[in-house]
Amino acid sequence: MLARPWVGEALGMTISLDELVAKALRRGAPTRDEALALLTDELDVLDVVAAAGRVRRHFFGRRVKLNTIINVRSGLCPEDCSYCSQRLGSTSDILTYSWISPVEAAEAADRAAQAGAKRICLVASGRGPGQRDIGRVAEMIEAIRARQPGVEICACLGLLKPGQADRLREAGVDAYSHNLNTNETRYADICSTHAFADRVDTVRQATGAGLSPCSGAIFGMGESDEDVVDMAFQLRELDPDSVPINFLIPMQGTPLEADWHLTPVRCLRILALFRFCFPDVEVRLAGGREIHLRSLQPLALQVANSIFLGDYLTSEGQPGADDRQMIADAGFTIEGTDEQTLPQARHDLVAIRRRGVGTDQPANA
Ligand code: SF4
Repeated sequence: MLARPWVGEALGMTISLDELVAKALRRGAPTRDEALALLTDELDVLDVVAAAGRVRRHFFGRRVKLNTIINVRSGLCPEDCSYCSQRLGSTSDILTYSWISPVEAAEAADRAAQAGAKRICLVASGRGPGQRDIGRVAEMIEAIRARQPGVEICACLGLLKPGQADRLREAGVDAYSHNLNTNETRYADICSTHAFADRVDTVRQATGAGLSPCSGAIFGMGESDEDVVDMAFQLRELDPDSVPINFLIPMQGTPLEADWHLTPVRCLRILALFRFCFPDVEVRLAGGREIHLRSLQPLALQVANSIFLGDYLTSEGQPGADDRQMIADAGFTIEGTDEQTLPQARHDLVAIRRRGVGTDQPANA
């Protein structure tokens, strides 16, 4: 038992972190007021992290899942998402290239898997894939599976048209990632070339096709506490299996290049709020962790059960060896490909393929 009741005053209410934990262990979400209170200074951040950590350990133990991004087509996007260095009009000095080959994808996936990555995220710039692009991704998957049959493969190709999610599923994609990024009322402030509803529609199409839905957010774009809570609740309606939490990397050459609003404590509070809103879902510490959490990154592992390993789409992450050391130092272990990420009670849409290409078992056809 705790030496003192975890009770604090915030927003004129009495908040019991013990009650929030108990509710989360029953897979219940905080009320709007409780969620807002987690973001205020009235509750000590270490108490909030410790409470969220109890939820994390209940559902995910001390495992950390590693994911690696492969940028399969970089830059020159016709969309205008303000946070993105690949956007229309970006003057960021980033790598730009068209589709990489299946061999290049397989080699990158090989290196990532050998470094401990369980999930490979194939990410392409652009509004959404054409039919030829789906074929390209299918060839990459075949090449990756031939070398690494045990990895999960997630595609992140933008807005999907009807039927494309089914084609990706048939090609062997396990999960589809499409972030909502910011809440509905602010969406037009960060992007004019597509709408919040378009993004929601793509996540629903992926889910409907049997792909494991991955959808998260970016913080540090001037959002209020109310906006953060709106984002969490709007994402909850989509019932994702994984929720990447990004902290804005203000890239030179983008409209948000001067937006350095976050503090490490703010990041920890946001992560804790998402753990309480998604108690048994993979909460992934994603882009921007190094520059915004800085020396408090290990504390974030107490809340998130998943991180990206290696580099991001257009900027570099901290060395993989440092991540592995950080995980070990904090008393966590890297999740193996033979370990299930989501708790049994939650319907796990990701069934790791153990048949067809790359195995001696017949394909599912
Ligand atoms: S986030 Fe995606 S759709 Fe938006 S500008 Fe960047 S690459 Fe294009």
